[in-house]
Amino acid sequence: LRVTFSPIHRRDRGITGMIAVLQDVTEQEKLEQSRRQFVANVSHELRTPLTTIKSYAEALAGGALEERELSERFVGVIQSETERMIRLVTDLLHLSRLDSNQAQLRRRQTDILEMLDEVSDRFSFQLRQKSIRATVKVAPGLKSAWLDRDQIDQVLDNLVSNAIKYTLDGGEIELSASAPDPGSVAISVRDTGIGIPKKDLSRIFDRFYRVDKARSRNMGGTGLGLSIAREIVKAHGGTIALESELNEGTKVTFTLPTLKEEEGESA
Ligand code: ADP
Repeated sequence: LRVTFSPIHRRDRGITGMIAVLQDVTEQEKLEQSRRQFVANVSHELRTPLTTIKSYAEALAGGALEERELSERFVGVIQSETERMIRLVTDLLHLSRLDSNQAQLRRRQTDILEMLDEVSDRFSFQLRQKSIRATVKVAPGLKSAWLDRDQIDQVLDNLVSNAIKYTLDGGEIELSASAPDPGSVAISVRDTGIGIPKKDLSRIFDRFYRVDKARSRNMGGTGLGLSIAREIVKAHGGTIALESELNEGTKVTFTLPTLKEEEGESA
């Protein structure tokens, strides 16, 4: 709440009164503050790889080029830091399109089992590398949903890649779908990974929020995966929630309406 006082002057009698204006600025200020925080985060996230690239390029220019092995290692770092920046910028563009509602959904009738099987196939290499077993379970009778396959694939990819990143070798991941009510589908990605401390749960969908910044960075994370997932689910008129137990595992569930709007209305 912002309060401003303006005195009322009378030419001959000085101040004769006071006008108090009460303004509710909390929402606006909060928005402004989170915008500033966001810009600061973006700058920092871009600056970190840029600084690394700069120093490795300088080392190469300063003589490291003469040494074959060393220069190969340095070029490798430059490549991976460049890739990180590309990922970051791609994620940021995606978020900004979702923010400005420019991301028009192209919804189609989509087979749920097929969609989940295909996510698991896309990650089969990474799953095998960490000896993680993935299972897919779809409730009987649950066939299809009216959704933008590309966008929901992005949600699933973000969730499954997190599940793999934050699960130790030999763990398990389960992709499942059920119908909590006739008009919606709930899709879950559950892992037996490291879990998330209780104190971090409330901020986990915030942009750039990570439990462990260094760890996330080492894993190639941008800190935007869950925020993008949430925006896409929101655009579909759905909700997303995360449950987690430290050292036990994490389960992220998103719920989407399954019917076309017209069908929903007539049903
Ligand atoms: P990141 O790119 O860092 O993975 P996300 O937005 O996808 O960013 O996730 C935010 C943070 O939430 C991660 O840095 C990690 O700390 C935590 N997190 C997300 N998914 C999981 C999971 N399945 N298990 C444990 N921690 C997770």
